[in-house]
Amino acid sequence: MKACSKCGETKEYSEFGKNSWTKDNFEYQCKVCKKTYYDSNKGKRASYAKKYKDNNKEAVAKHAREYYQTNKESCLIHRRNWQRRSRNELFDGYVKRVLFQQYGIKNFPIELIELKRAEITAKRELKRLKNI
Ligand SMILES: [Zn+2]
Repeated sequence: MKACSKCGETKEYSEFGKNSWTKDNFEYQCKVCKKTYYDSNKGKRASYAKKYKDNNKEAVAKHAREYYQTNKESCLIHRRNWQRRSRNELFDGYVKRVLFQQYGIKNFPIELIELKRAEITAKRELKRLKNI
């Protein structure tokens, strides 16, 4: 059992999300409070997380490394699944990578990414038709 730092209620650990940054590896706030907070702070949170990352690059990298070392198996599975999904669904990151590999340019206007995505989709469709 653990007390939520927000609503003060004592709840089962299953009522708390996991967080590898905290001592007991659970969030300080229960899922209900987290969700309420989450929903009301979407924009703010994104910019805060980015700021934190930029200001703590080393700590973040170290944490990521340690997390990877202790969770290699699940990290690799997660990464593989992510890569497969990103390839199948043509996420921005995937399309950018293809563009970078082909042309060596890193910053593309969003329209170009859309065009490339359309090109890849067309190529895949042609390949599929050919193989029928
Ligand atoms: Zn709570």
